[in-house]
Amino acid sequence: MANTSRYHQTLSFEVFPPKKEDEFKAAYDVLNELSKLKPAFISVTYGAGGSRSKKTIDIASYIQNTLHIDALAHMTCVGSKREDIIQVCEALKAVKVNKVLALRGDRPRDMTDEQFNARDFAHASDMIGFLKENTDMEIAGACYPEKHPESFSLEADLQYLKQKQDMGANMFISQMFFDNDYFYRFRDKALQKGITLPIHAGIMPITAAKQLGTTITLSGSSVPKSLADLIAKYGDNAEDMRKAGIDYCVRQILDLKQTGVDGIHIYSMNKPKTTAEIVNAIQ
Ligand code: FAD
Repeated sequence: MANTSRYHQTLSFEVFPPKKEDEFKAAYDVLNELSKLKPAFISVTYGAGGSRSKKTIDIASYIQNTLHIDALAHMTCVGSKREDIIQVCEALKAVKVNKVLALRGDRPRDMTDEQFNARDFAHASDMIGFLKENTDMEIAGACYPEKHPESFSLEADLQYLKQKQDMGANMFISQMFFDNDYFYRFRDKALQKGITLPIHAGIMPITAAKQLGTTITLSGSSVPKSLADLIAKYGDNAEDMRKAGIDYCVRQILDLKQTGVDGIHIYSMNKPKTTAEIVNAIQ
């Protein structure tokens, strides 16, 4: 039985920054809509390689200063030297953003071996230690209920997760998962390893069949039969699939809330309508 006393059950969202300069207006419209749902914080992704870090900072600034919602800016070791990390932190502090999600990042397709190996921090925990010593940022880390795809075992992955806590992280956000049992097992094992930080459950609404071949495959998360059946049944009809996907996601969140969860972090995919339907159904 979960100890519910430590759970705050915050609601938060992830957004991605626009790719092009002329897409900022649309991104702000998305954020304006999401802000009406009163999330505790909104996180902003970062392109590993750092080429679009300015866009992450601009979007985080809008969240923090225009919407007055806490912004959590992602940053990656991949593509970054120590001085780049310091520069990004200074730029974030200049716009009053003091929360970062410290990630290793994955290798972008167009990155050479040399560029990939040139990073100063091999793993997220190394960057977390550096941030803790050299900045006053609040630091979050990523975790993986079904283990990280490169990891030898969940045990090994949890050992490295504990390092993130020891190096100064103050909360974790999980990779998406579609079967809550993985999350519950992971959380119990994490606690056994002494991982006591809040773990926010990352929830991705599957509202289009094509997400199976893209987002889900990349994440390494497994697809339970109930979700596969739903995609097989509704996948050809966009609106039916959207409704069925929202319904699946709502049931997943309600179960998590009932069992006690530190927070629900919805991967919004910059879709405020879908996010609002989910949020309204879980209140
Ligand atoms: P790490 O913690 O460094 O772990 C990576 C692998 O190395 C794991 O297998 C781990 O077990 C192993 N490991 C860790 N420490 C050690 C060690 N000391 N010695 C040996 N092995 C070790 N990517 C982006 O590019 N941009 C984003 O904005 C972004 N946002 C994300 C948000 C969330 C919530 C999540 C869950 C992932 C996100 N990612 C993002 C993807 C992430 O960058 C990848 O999953 C990446 O492969 C791992 O990042 P990490 O921070 O978990 O790495």
